[in-house]
Amino acid sequence: MSHLKVNLAVYRLHEFSKLGNTVHGFSTRQFYPLTVRDLWQRTPVALQFASQVGFDLEKVVAMDQVHGDRIAMVDSKDTGKLIGKTDGLVTREKGVYLAIKTADCAPLLFYEIQKQIIAVAHAGWKGVLKKIAGKVVHKMKDEFGADTSQILVGIGPTIGACCYHITRERLDLFKTELGADLTVYSSRKKQIFLDLPLMIIKQLVKAGIKESNIENGAICTVCFSQKFYSRRADMARYGKLQGEIIGILGMRRQINDSFQ
Ligand SMILES: [Zn+2]
Repeated sequence: MSHLKVNLAVYRLHEFSKLGNTVHGFSTRQFYPLTVRDLWQRTPVALQFASQVGFDLEKVVAMDQVHGDRIAMVDSKDTGKLIGKTDGLVTREKGVYLAIKTADCAPLLFYEIQKQIIAVAHAGWKGVLKKIAGKVVHKMKDEFGADTSQILVGIGPTIGACCYHITRERLDLFKTELGADLTVYSSRKKQIFLDLPLMIIKQLVKAGIKESNIENGAICTVCFSQKFYSRRADMARYGKLQGEIIGILGMRRQINDSFQ
């Protein structure tokens, strides 16, 4: 826990925090109970989370996530809605806040700085197999003419290669779908470990994102399970998942950013 501030209630990505006109944050266990529905119901915990991150609870759009690859375009008409069977959201409307829930799967944040487009995506192992990260980039390009060289991507708290052991059957699925890239998995103590964030980074680079524009938060939800909800750690410790990490990304209505 040494490099993580112990009293940190909202976790933020370093590079995204430098951007003056975006608002983002991930909830920690300190916010309990907190679901996306609680955001619209303005529960006391939701109010506390919104005030610490700095977003408007009534302007949130969330997804009914299904480990798929459907990506929805949303705007202010969708605020207060749970978009069905969707694992990615894209908007260019300022003041709309995109929500994502995870607990070991990767929460991804996207920001196209020139044309002012944001997106979020939920990428667990199924989403990675379906290449959702790259599909979000293509959606941003196709729908709004995003320039890939201007897209910054952030990977929030995700199970790391240190803790994500998988079965040989699952490994075979990845090999079939994504090729036998030896850098994304390793073997220790007769177990196979998959590096989900690295796979996502590789897919993003393939989709045209500069590697230097990808910020991997590199916080493992299992190693830091005292701070973050983790499906694997919670199942081992309590027999059930205790809650989920809520991630938020939105654009403010003013202030311009520039990077590189
Ligand atoms: Zn770990």
